[in-house]
Amino acid sequence: MALAQKGLSYAECEQRALSVTGAAFFLAASYMNHSCDSTVTVERQCGHTSKFIARKRLAPGDELTIDYIGSANLLPPSDTTDPEEALMERLLHRQQQVLSNYQFRCQCSLCESEFAAIEGLD
Ligand SMILES: [Zn+2]
Repeated sequence: MALAQKGLSYAECEQRALSVTGAAFFLAASYMNHSCDSTVTVERQCGHTSKFIARKRLAPGDELTIDYIGSANLLPPSDTTDPEEALMERLLHRQQQVLSNYQFRCQCSLCESEFAAIEGLD
């Protein structure tokens, strides 16, 4: 597709009211597990490509994970000012999103560390 060759981002395509329909299958990404604190972020491109960008320094053998639910931008509606309560709300909201959309309980390092932190609060 010519648009992809021009390097337009997905957002730029949408701004130009270019319709992007259909689905894509990315073989490498299909092997990546979910993590709320993913090592890789996916940047959709206009056309037939996506970029996979490391979010942190990776060493050989490190697992490449992607965030299926967009955890970084996924905050539950809340009016709490209590940081411990806010932590619990974020964690439970992420857990609910993963469970309802992907039918598994997230046990990523972020979720497990936050569960441990909450258990240690008592
Ligand atoms: Zn998680």
